[in-house]
Amino acid sequence: MPNPIRISNLERHFMRGETAVYALHGVDLTIQPGEFVALVGPSGSGKSTLLNLLGGLDRPSGGELWLNGLALHSADDKQRTRHRREQLGFIFQSFNLLPKLTALENTAVPLMLNGVPKAEREARAAALLEKVGLGHRLHHYPTELSGGEQQRVAIARALIHNPALILADEPTGNLDSATGAEVMALLQQLNQEQGITLIVVTHDEEVAAYAHRIVKLRDGRVEDDRVTRWQGDKVTDDSSVTLSPPHPVTLSTPGLPFRDIIRSALGNLRRRPVRNVLTAAGVVIGIITLVAMVSFGVGVQKEVQRNFETIGLENIFVNPLFAETDEFDPFAPPEPERALTPTAVSEIAQLPGVKIVTPILDLPRGVNVTLLMADEQVIPVRITEGGEGRFSFGGTNDLLAGQSIDEGETQGIVLSNGLADTLLAPEQTYADLIGQAVALQAELPRGESQQFPSRIVGVRESFGSRTIDLGLAERAAITTWWFGQPDLLETEGYDRLIVRAENLGSVTAVIEAIDEMDFAPQSFEAILDVANQVLSLLQALLGSVGALALLVAALGVANTMLMAIYERTREIGVLKALGASRREIRLLFMVEAGLIGLIGGFVGLILGALLGRLVDYIAHWYLIEEGVTGVGLLSVIPPWLALGALAFAALIGILAGLYPAARAARLDPVSALRHE
Ligand code: ADP
Ligand code: MG
Repeated sequence: MPNPIRISNLERHFMRGETAVYALHGVDLTIQPGEFVALVGPSGSGKSTLLNLLGGLDRPSGGELWLNGLALHSADDKQRTRHRREQLGFIFQSFNLLPKLTALENTAVPLMLNGVPKAEREARAAALLEKVGLGHRLHHYPTELSGGEQQRVAIARALIHNPALILADEPTGNLDSATGAEVMALLQQLNQEQGITLIVVTHDEEVAAYAHRIVKLRDGRVEDDRVTRWQGDKVTDDSSVTLSPPHPVTLSTPGLPFRDIIRSALGNLRRRPVRNVLTAAGVVIGIITLVAMVSFGVGVQKEVQRNFETIGLENIFVNPLFAETDEFDPFAPPEPERALTPTAVSEIAQLPGVKIVTPILDLPRGVNVTLLMADEQVIPVRITEGGEGRFSFGGTNDLLAGQSIDEGETQGIVLSNGLADTLLAPEQTYADLIGQAVALQAELPRGESQQFPSRIVGVRESFGSRTIDLGLAERAAITTWWFGQPDLLETEGYDRLIVRAENLGSVTAVIEAIDEMDFAPQSFEAILDVANQVLSLLQALLGSVGALALLVAALGVANTMLMAIYERTREIGVLKALGASRREIRLLFMVEAGLIGLIGGFVGLILGALLGRLVDYIAHWYLIEEGVTGVGLLSVIPPWLALGALAFAALIGILAGLYPAARAARLDPVSALRHE
């Protein structure tokens, strides 16, 4: 500390009701760098108050306080924090070691607050503890150390970051006289060897005798200021040689690293395992409910969608719209307002959101069709209704060879496997049938017949043994011949269309557009809507249970954090005295709360997933008992759900920790240190 401490007309009063109680009543004092000052005086004379002001833990009511060029009387919170963290060492009467840290870790705390990495700070702490005679106690906890040993650790802690000034408030007050003498001898040695400025409060004459200068306070004023063995001139002469600290004091260090915040928070969580586990249990329950809700939502929705898709949920069935006639005439043939002509088909095919349009043309009732094979076999066949082969009710229409007649305008015939089997020569496979030219012979009821060329394009699995699917081209040819009307499609149009939308999202728009064109569209959408509504209701129900559980969990976290802060008030005071900023204290508690949430969320996620599996298992067992098979997973946890649940749980913890953490950060260090 190159500059002296200058105190002028320093005042500090406390309001007790209407009257001001003066702890300091105009103190003037100058302390040179390297001095060892004992601050003595009767109890209540203002010694601790002065020390707290020097430490920047308290603000004066008046006067000035200059410390190493810093106007501490008007410094803001940040400056005072930096002053403590970088320039100051504190030694307390009751040692104030952090109970859950070892001697080594306690000693290293100021370096941690200055952002020194763990390995380096612990090496430095070990070396220093060795120096104060505690090399054999590095890994002991404060409760395992004697008073004298604890105070030595505290001295090492005050010294570790090479402060310019050490403030000690009754450092021997809790020690027997022999141990007290050892501690004072150690302080004296530090002062002499390293030139650290020392200000020690004591009411013990013998302790004061170690100092070079004794300042006596009474009723908040300096009553006496005596230099006993001051060799300041000698010390300042040598300062350039002996006083330079081995590690230069760095200004504006990075502060407490986040990894150390996490480490501390985890350490603190382990201190109250039962309480924290119970608190996290609230989060666990909330997250289980939430995960179960969303995963079943996702799973069931997927399953419903999949089932609807196999029967063609994107399919829109378009019929012509029949005009309402004013007069009722039972004998008039139904007259469509607009026929589903090839022109209309291409118009619909060009609508946005339409993937493909399949016109359906039913063969006239009563038409008999026989299949004439190249080898002159004649086989009567049943022709499937338009579009029938495309939908699987029972799942028996798998294609076995070639292609199917499914979408768009097609031609050719697809044989059922039963029929194909009868046509196969030995050693032949279904594939050998594909491409064979055949003829279809259609017969009018009055006996006239006509042949239509075609070819086999595929073989598929089917129930019927004489069933064929027939392409649109052949159907149109047979129909126009039957009615004797070559322009049948242009005038009467197709019977109906199957319009496939690009995706489920475009179904509504396509329906509306087709409606505009004066056709009558229909879809399964209405059914899906109902299914989705039921699902949403279920989700809302589960969701409110989950939200309620998480709300209760958040209250639990907040309560736990408030209790932790109450228990650790003194530790917070110590951390502040050692130079932890408000921000760091707040972060410490928020991270702790966030970790409770995160850990609860993690366990909740796992249990939620297991619960999903269990319910899935039971549901499938039940469905199989009921004869329902082919149902997929009902509980699905996509990655976004897992990550979302974890993030949400952590967020709940952090939100619940906001208020307690702010409270901890606001704690007044002086009263926090006095907290029992
Ligand atoms: P010492 O350390 O010399 O015993 P203190 O500096 O602790 O004395 O206290 C000086 C005076 O200021 C005492 O009368 C004490 O009651 C009063 N005082 C100290 N802190 C407070 C406070 N936070 N509120 C009210 N009075 C206080
Ligand atoms: Mg005191």
